Amino acid sequence: MEDLDTQLAHLREKVDRVEEKVRGIQRVSQEMVGNYRLKLTMELVFDLLAEFYGCEKGILLWRRGANFVPAGGLGVDEGEWSKYRVAAKGVTSYLKDKRKPLPLSCFPPTSFPFLDEGLNFLLPLQGRRGLNGVLLLGLKDGAISESTEERILQVLANFLVLSLQKEKLYLKATNLSKRFKAQLELATREFRSLNKELKKKIYNLHNLFQVSTNVYAIFDIDHLFNSLLLTILGQLGAKSATIFLAAGDGEGKFVPKFCKGIREEETSGLVLQRKTAFCRFIAHKGMPILISQLDESLFKEEFTDLKKIGLELFSPLLVSGELMGVLALGGRVNGEPYQPEDLEMLAILTNMAGVAIGNVKEYKKVEKLSYTDGMTDLHNYRYFSNRLEEEIIRAKRYDRSLSLIILDVDYFKNYNDCLGHQQGDLALRELSKILKKSVRKIDVVSRYGGEEFCVIMPEVKSTGCKKFMERLRRKVEDYHFQGEEVQPQGKITISLGGATFPQDAANMDELIYKADFSLYEAKRRGRNRSIYYGELQPQREVAPALSGG
Ligand code: GH3
Ligand code: MG
Ligand code: MG
Repeated sequence: MEDLDTQLAHLREKVDRVEEKVRGIQRVSQEMVGNYRLKLTMELVFDLLAEFYGCEKGILLWRRGANFVPAGGLGVDEGEWSKYRVAAKGVTSYLKDKRKPLPLSCFPPTSFPFLDEGLNFLLPLQGRRGLNGVLLLGLKDGAISESTEERILQVLANFLVLSLQKEKLYLKATNLSKRFKAQLELATREFRSLNKELKKKIYNLHNLFQVSTNVYAIFDIDHLFNSLLLTILGQLGAKSATIFLAAGDGEGKFVPKFCKGIREEETSGLVLQRKTAFCRFIAHKGMPILISQLDESLFKEEFTDLKKIGLELFSPLLVSGELMGVLALGGRVNGEPYQPEDLEMLAILTNMAGVAIGNVKEYKKVEKLSYTDGMTDLHNYRYFSNRLEEEIIRAKRYDRSLSLIILDVDYFKNYNDCLGHQQGDLALRELSKILKKSVRKIDVVSRYGGEEFCVIMPEVKSTGCKKFMERLRRKVEDYHFQGEEVQPQGKITISLGGATFPQDAANMDELIYKADFSLYEAKRRGRNRSIYYGELQPQREVAPALSGG
């Protein structure tokens, strides 16, 4: 018990000692706030070292070129300082970027030829750009037995470095004010105007930041460009803005695709040829450029047209380094010319657009992935159900029909069992290709699951649906799948079921149910056949209650 009490008392003593030192440190730091003189800080630090560490001797060496020269001392007369001067190289090569007190015995004797002078420890004074100096101290044995002590010493060392920097700055400033008062005034004025400019830039940046968060969140390209154009008109005070994009016919032309502040008739017919000097020049420059900065004779072809509709400023739209289009601005609403900072702003906005276009592309890729069945490259079930819902809404709105077909491979388990899963996959991929080739552009083929597929056929009624199912059934029957001889009928076949909205079903769930029910009927009646729900009517089973919609 007593043992524990002594230990506790011991510990408390230790804590008190550390606290006392921390208070000392606070004192120095407070003094430092109000003064700019290194000498004063030095005195305070030496006082603390004497008080807390019983240090009787110390010398502060600052770096001056290739040497460390004394700048202050404790217990050393200023007249004796010169003998403590040492070459920097012998110290720095051993210190590297150490930031803790080290015994002088760590260094080769040549580094400090005065080791016998009662100095035994070194505190490195590391500044931002390397070693500013060292503090040599004569400490009693065991004075820094703990890492807390090490840290406290290092804090004191940092104070010295800070104080040195502060003094240097102060001296610089006073020197300046003495010698170059006039220049200082000039500098102040410049500073003020810079500050103004900075404020404007910050304001612009703030706007940009808002624009950027908006722009980066847009994944729809039309929306993106329209929003970008509005932003540009607002930010740069432009009368009009046009975005030229690839014409899409692979001929390497850029044509106006989006415009604001200018009528479409005015821009229609305008063309920028990708291969001309003009496009190559701005793509190479990679920055906005004013028409007035260009040598008209070199870009003759484009000039007349562009000038005619008042386009003055051009910015290349680059995506991953490739020219995707050109952003063109008309003059400013207030009639003043564009300033360099406007060009800067436009550059940032166009870059942002480039990144956003890249994003849209990436997003489309991701979106495609999440809607695509990896094995067959057809749409997956998720896409199918979203799309069917949309198509039904559209059919309802425009009072149109829509047919749905579900089909399933006959005895596919057998094919798999006999020839292996890989061969089964191959057959499913081939079947997918047949399906894709057999439908119209507006039809949607999806993998419904396993070896079942479905086709959404907008605008198709009963006759069309029946015809299509039969044609598809025969195509598959006629196609030669490898190893299909193992199948019960000697070939791979499919069964199909079809139904039509709104003739057979009032909503999506009902339509799926009825197509599926017809497929089931086709299986039941012997497979390799197609059944249209409308033709089952007389003996059809009662569908379970499905929600209307
Ligand atoms: P039915 O004529 O009644 O449709 O007979 P079936 O054998 O085709 O029917 P069942 O539903 O019993 O079996 C379907 C089989 O399809 C089971 C499974 O091995 C196979 N299958 C489902 N998806 C895949 C796939 O992605 N790859 C392969 N290789 N086989 C699949
Ligand atoms: Mg099946
Ligand atoms: Mg099957």
